[in-house]
Amino acid sequence: MQRIYNFSAGPAVLPRDVLVQAADELVNWQGCGMSVMEMSHRGKEYMGIQAQTEADLRELMAIPAHYKVLFLQGGASSQFAMVPMNLLRGRASADYLNTGEWSKKAIKEAKRFGNVNVVASSEDRNFSYAPGQDAWRLDPKAAYVHYTPNETIGGVEIFWTPETGNVPLVADMSSNILSRPIDVSRYGLIYAGAQKNIGPAGVTVVIVREDLIGQCMPAAPVMFDYKTHADNDSMYNTPPTYGIYIAGLVFQWLKRQGGLGTIERRNIEKAQVLYDYLDSTQFYRNPVERADRSRMNVPFTLHDAALDEAFLKGAKERQMLQLKGHRSVGGMRASIYNAMPIEGVRALVDYMREFEKRNG
Ligand SMILES: *Cc1c(COP(=O)(O)O)cnc(C)c1O
Repeated sequence: MQRIYNFSAGPAVLPRDVLVQAADELVNWQGCGMSVMEMSHRGKEYMGIQAQTEADLRELMAIPAHYKVLFLQGGASSQFAMVPMNLLRGRASADYLNTGEWSKKAIKEAKRFGNVNVVASSEDRNFSYAPGQDAWRLDPKAAYVHYTPNETIGGVEIFWTPETGNVPLVADMSSNILSRPIDVSRYGLIYAGAQKNIGPAGVTVVIVREDLIGQCMPAAPVMFDYKTHADNDSMYNTPPTYGIYIAGLVFQWLKRQGGLGTIERRNIEKAQVLYDYLDSTQFYRNPVERADRSRMNVPFTLHDAALDEAFLKGAKERQMLQLKGHRSVGGMRASIYNAMPIEGVRALVDYMREFEKRNG
């Protein structure tokens, strides 16, 4: 069957090979006579799937042994609350970097649990850049420092790892996890909703240093305490089994591609094709400072917004979908996650060029 090029910001494109394998195994997983969806999460088949999924993620990201990997639910949005509930540990405040819509949401939620010190903000220039570390006003007594290394809506990505001394660094990697190698040991906690670069919506991955677990606010529900999930291998309650299985297939696909080094090279090339074209014309515009341009989410506007509808219609006729920008910024957004092949990006640029010729 013909597949379209899906530029959705999330839920987003998955590797075709993964979908084909999942379809093949849907009704009868590896000869066991039932679907993964129908398995007890306490049975040996499913426990094997989840253990393999975790092992593959650990291998891909080189996660050190003193970190726990948790498969939770509730999306990154629940982590906006779970992080302060678990990591404030009696301290008065936490540091947050404000680089856009997702940072703002994380900050707003954290304020329900403690004081928030905004170390720096790019709101002065409409969130079009990442404030350099020299501009951050870090509090050495902060419980942790939170930042959003890829702002999915604004298309701003931070390619360097902030230096926070002994204060644990926390990252919302929902939209750039697994897009390049990172040094996990520099972080206290990393979280990501699955539906951008991992798998289907419904799974949230949390990677947390063990010493940060166990000091949750006493009033927190058991389900919001990392210790509950860490002590029970993410099986305190029923985990999102089918989503974890698909995430596992994505991890195996990433390993077959050659791991995150190879994926990073591809992502650089894909982003380059699109940004090079955007920079070569006045017809389209990307507002983000060059050094901070996201490799995953590329927002752009047409010089005349009255052409937006025609642009989207033409894209659809050419099998390119979900290019409409976020409602808060308008214009277009091309999300080009790991599973988007370079052919998709080339097809988009060819179409953009043709559209410019006709309307420029
Ligand atoms: C999508 C996204 C979220 C929200 O994720 P949910 O799973 O919908 O809660 C949070 N942060 C970032 C950076 C995102 O891209």
